[in-house]
Amino acid sequence: DFVSLDNIPLWTPTGGGSEPSRYQRNEKLDQKISLFTGDITKLEIDAIVNAANNTLLGGGGVDGAIHRAAGPKLKMECASLCGCETGEAKITCGYGLPAKYVIHTVGPIAQGGVKEEHRKALRSCYTNSLKTATENAARSLAFPCISTGIYGYPPEQAVHEALAAVREYLEAHHDKLDRVIFCVFLPKDKELYLQNLPLYFPAA
Ligand code: ADP
Repeated sequence: DFVSLDNIPLWTPTGGGSEPSRYQRNEKLDQKISLFTGDITKLEIDAIVNAANNTLLGGGGVDGAIHRAAGPKLKMECASLCGCETGEAKITCGYGLPAKYVIHTVGPIAQGGVKEEHRKALRSCYTNSLKTATENAARSLAFPCISTGIYGYPPEQAVHEALAAVREYLEAHHDKLDRVIFCVFLPKDKELYLQNLPLYFPAA
């Protein structure tokens, strides 16, 4: 029941939403964006991003799902990495996953309200994950909604950091990536991405 890249449809740019777009249309980039609803552990692509914690030793949410699907070897490799700072990213093999690599990044804990340092850290999670992917020749990459679960970052704010980071990274490095997939799990997040994708990847 794995999902191959060929079966993940491209985002089709639609006419503007209620807000004016923040960027110009860039057709090169439209060919590289997908919105996928479902389980990130099923994606048969080069790399999936894990919303991990500082220990990298596993946790709940998407982290737990990734470790369960990958098997115990993932935890062994993670244990050798000496943890990860918030906003940084580290790469491992995918083991039992259909994805070749897992890029572990640690989002900010924003339960008491979003401060500027949280916003910057979340943006860095996306940018450093993209950088880590390209440094390892991973050309297809999927992101979960980092920090918006247990870590309490409001999803309606997080979506802008995710979309802006990917748009800006692709502007500079579109030759190094074939596909960036926003993998949403909750209906509410799907709605938020459908609403906001046209602001960052507009039709015109
Ligand atoms: P964090 O601790 O960074 O907040 P969570 O794992 O609690 O991370 O939540 C991050 C997001 O991952 C949430 O939107 C959650 O619904 C989603 N999620 C949980 N399981 C999966 C999965 N198997 N595939 C994709 N997304 C998932």
